[in-house]
Amino acid sequence: MAQINTSYLKLPGSYLFAEIKRKVDAYQKEHPDADIIRLGIGDVTRPLAPAVIAAMHAAVDEMADSATFRGYGPEQGYDFLINAIIAGEYRPRGVELDPCEVFVSDGSKCDVGNIQEIFSPTASVAIGDPVYPVYLDSNVMAGRTGEFRSDGRFEGITYLTGTAENGFVPALPERPVDLIYLCSPNNPTGSVLSRAELEKWVRYAGETGAVILFDSAYSAYIRDPELPRTIYEIPGAEEVAIEFKSFSKTAGFTGVRCAFTVVPRALKRDGVSLNSLWNRRQCTKFNGVSYVVQRGAEAVYSPAGAVQTREAVDYYMENARIIREGLSAAGCTVFGGENAPYIWWKLPAGLDSMNFTVTLLKTCQVVGTPGVGFGPGGEGYFRLTAFGDRDRTVEGVDRICRAGLV
Ligand SMILES: *Cc1c(COP(=O)(O)O)cnc(C)c1O
Repeated sequence: MAQINTSYLKLPGSYLFAEIKRKVDAYQKEHPDADIIRLGIGDVTRPLAPAVIAAMHAAVDEMADSATFRGYGPEQGYDFLINAIIAGEYRPRGVELDPCEVFVSDGSKCDVGNIQEIFSPTASVAIGDPVYPVYLDSNVMAGRTGEFRSDGRFEGITYLTGTAENGFVPALPERPVDLIYLCSPNNPTGSVLSRAELEKWVRYAGETGAVILFDSAYSAYIRDPELPRTIYEIPGAEEVAIEFKSFSKTAGFTGVRCAFTVVPRALKRDGVSLNSLWNRRQCTKFNGVSYVVQRGAEAVYSPAGAVQTREAVDYYMENARIIREGLSAAGCTVFGGENAPYIWWKLPAGLDSMNFTVTLLKTCQVVGTPGVGFGPGGEGYFRLTAFGDRDRTVEGVDRICRAGLV
């Protein structure tokens, strides 16, 4: 009889967003007239940039003609997109990459979930807390953890806890680790690692042989010119770090699907280039992103596309400002929202974040995300996102302020 991968059974409950959706749906069913404002899920709402739409239309037309039709493309992505990424994303920051170091994919979620495959099953792992749940869950599935404990943590994982006291910038691990997941700008706290912080991590990885898995899905939201947009701005990072970036939040591609991962050739462990391992993995298990989508992604870096996608990011960042300043003025303690589309709200002491989700839904008909969904370190916090419609965001903030929840 076939046996299952019992590591999956260690994962507690359902995926957080599904659980909240269930609660909201139940509430809407009971109150059909309730005007619910969604400031919860991290999905974009603005339409694709006109330059992206035009490029995708043109690519569709190419597919309609046998002279320009394309079948399977390179597993790593088309050169036109890889070159546009290097020229548009890295060169302006003083980072030079070889095209073979960039792997185009259909999403950072898959890449950050799959990257662990190229490391030993016994690799020890350090993960932020609170953070995007994919890093932890993918390592649980791969069997790198013990059991889920009653304190909300897995045995065998090193948690890098971000708190208001440390500015949500975790300290270096106390015991040696092999893999370090960093998310900056951070989902959910909205904190960003400074150059000095990143230098500290790069130095640590260089000294210990650890590999940093740097998820930078929100780098387009960084406003402070002093903050690094890519870890490769830090000297030596090419020997210790893999970087993940996505068009999802940058250019509204959550439904279109396109991202990329940088695995430098200089990054070697056990004498082997991780670039060659990831290339082997992708060629075996992945067949590339559609031509039409890659043309759309390329257009993000065109002069018009850059301006238009920037406008959408600006729109969200204005929402972030409205939430941040509105809640602050009402006496709430909030973090983030300055270089990230997330506002991390510290609930009054003793409030349970999952219960608060229901309270907020019932009193304000506003949906947000309980901090505990991002790890036990998120308990006592609540995440609001800037991805909503402007008027709805203003209205949501207004309702929260009027309800006097703090
Ligand atoms: C949204 C998000 C991503 C992007 O995932 P895609 O699969 O590219 O849509 C990656 N990392 C974090 C932390 C995110 O919040």
